[in-house]
Amino acid sequence: MRDVSIIPLGAHPRDIRLEDLKAGIERVLPVTASVVMHPLDIDVALDGSRKQYHSTSVLTLLLGRSELSSSRLLGITSFDLFVPVLTFVFGQAQVNNRAAVFSTFRLHNEFYGLPRSGEILAERCLKEALHELGHTYGLRHCLDYPCVMNSSTYVEDIDLKPPDFCLPCRDHLNSVL
Ligand SMILES: [Zn+2]
Ligand SMILES: [Zn+2]
Repeated sequence: MRDVSIIPLGAHPRDIRLEDLKAGIERVLPVTASVVMHPLDIDVALDGSRKQYHSTSVLTLLLGRSELSSSRLLGITSFDLFVPVLTFVFGQAQVNNRAAVFSTFRLHNEFYGLPRSGEILAERCLKEALHELGHTYGLRHCLDYPCVMNSSTYVEDIDLKPPDFCLPCRDHLNSVL
């Protein structure tokens, strides 16, 4: 359960240093992460009318690639993601299973008309990565603590939470990792 593949989906996410994301994940979680530099085509997950990618389909695509054998698959894409009941999602993961994905589309300051910041983008990416990986290790949304497993509806919610797990969530992770 300790190896994580970071997989760019579609075009290589712009402005993101995947090696920094890898280092950030390894700083917080007791896992070995690696960047898989064979961007996976996710065009079949595109909903033409919404001009967004169906995140559940993206998870299925990740799981369908037999060469991706690590215990956790973390897709990262610059395309906007959705599930049918919501306008968009920052990311999606299988609880207690292998696949997770998140999008940088709404993590850029420029999306909100604010000046570009590589630092803020990197911090948001790390939080999203930790949050989605937390789901794959069996964590659900955490309500009562300043914790990266808080659910985020707006980017401000992401900015408010720390890039780390609260003690109960950390205890759970220690028991499974
Ligand atoms: Zn979540
Ligand atoms: Zn927590």
